[in-house]
This record gives sequence, structure tokens and C-alpha cells, in this order.
Amino acid sequence: MGDRKPFIAGNWKMNLNRSESVKLVRAIAERISDQPGTDILVAPPFTALSVVKDAIGSAKIYLGAQNMHWETGGAYTGEVSPAMLVEAGCTHVILGHSERRSLFMETDEMIDRKARAAVGMGLIPIICIGETLEQREQGRTFQLIRSQLDQSLKNFREQKAMPLTTILAYEPVWAIGTGRTASPQEAQEVHQFIRQWLKEHFGSGTAEKMRILYGGSVKPDNTKDLMAMPDIDGALVGGASLKADTFIQIARFHAE
Ligand code: PEP
Repeated sequence: MGDRKPFIAGNWKMNLNRSESVKLVRAIAERISDQPGTDILVAPPFTALSVVKDAIGSAKIYLGAQNMHWETGGAYTGEVSPAMLVEAGCTHVILGHSERRSLFMETDEMIDRKARAAVGMGLIPIICIGETLEQREQGRTFQLIRSQLDQSLKNFREQKAMPLTTILAYEPVWAIGTGRTASPQEAQEVHQFIRQWLKEHFGSGTAEKMRILYGGSVKPDNTKDLMAMPDIDGALVGGASLKADTFIQIARFHAE
């Protein structure tokens, strides 16, 4: 984890209506006031962003969206622009989640455009990458991760400028929602590879400051071991973020 501040993010996916969302974020807000050493974020569905923002009030919880379009506006039925997310109170946006890639045909090129647009609007992107089980079994994990980094961060790479606040999330597809977590060592290997890639392209100062989250069946009982790894700086949590108790236990991994 180094000197980087831990970052625990809850991706609520297409779950919870507005009142359930408010109830959950209130329960989290009431109990994380003693977590100054950890950054906490929730990413509700679009329809609940504004009410969750209001419910957060002055609590130290960041608000993220789960996706956005790269254009500023226009004839893009069903899409939401970066400015709309800022207006709804978001500070962050998750980009390139594996469900977006596999179910909605998102490509690295689209993620690259979205990352550029997010930063242009002052949003902090949380950019997801990760290999499938088939790719891992074929020994192609590192090749795939390199390719996703090269392509999804192409604009930052070409500009030789990576905003330090940008967050990367390593989410092996085989571990998402399956109950099968990467071992801390398996995750660390890939996180170390990602940090090395950052160093190659942006220098060691940037590589050491940027946070790399792990995601894939993170639970209260595996968080501490994952967070003990030198290059794992936080967690992107799906299923376990939908219950206040489990999410708070994860956020309090120090105490568990
Ligand atoms: C996710 O969707 O980003 C995720 C990691 O899900 P889960 O924690 O349920 O595996």
C-alpha cells in the first residue's frame, strides 16, 4: 500500500431504488466518520445520484457514476455526459468495467475517449482492466493487461501526462461476482506489473503516487490480506457494497 491513502469504492451496479440508495448511504455515512485515513466512494445507478448526493451531506464520501459518454451533448439517446455527472454531484466515474466491455461492447478506444473527456470535465476516472479466465489459463494475462493499458490510456500516454488522481482498478473477470478471489499474491503480481507500466510511461514519481485498486469478490474476510500487498491500494467492491455492514467492515480493514 506504501504511502498511498487507501481507497474503498462500492459499485452498486443496477441495484437499489432511490429510497434504498439513500438508506444505504446514510447507514454508511453514520459509521465511517472515524475513517479519516481511508477514502470512501459509492457509485449508485444514475437515477439515484442526486438523492445520494443530498444524503451524503457533509460526510466524507465521494460520489461516482458507473459510466458516461465522451461527448458533451447531442443526439446520443440513452447516454449521459460528463457535465451531467458533475451537475449531479459526482467527483469520480468508473470507466471500462468488464460488464461494460463484455455486455455493451465497450472497447479500449471508447474507454480512452471517456477517460480524456472525464478529466477534461474535472471528473476522476476509475479505469478498470482485467483478464478473462480463458486468457489467464492461456498464460496471456500480462500481455492482455499491457494491451488494455496501452489502448485505454492512449491519450495520456501520447501526451506523456497522467493526472495523478486517476485511479486504476485491476479486476480479473473470473473473480467478479463469482466468489472466487484472486489470491493476494496473484493480485499483487498484476498490480506490480501495472505500476511498472506506469513507471515506464510516466516516471516513478507518478507510478508511486497513483492508486491501483483490486476488484473481484472482495469481502470483509479477504480485504486485510489483499491490502497488505505493497501495490494494492484499495478495493472496488460489487456485491459486498450493497449491505452497509459488509461495506463498512471492508472500509475498516485496518481494524478487522
Ligand atoms: C465489480 O463489479 O466491480 C466487482 C468487483 O464485483 P464483486 O465484488 O461482486 O465481485
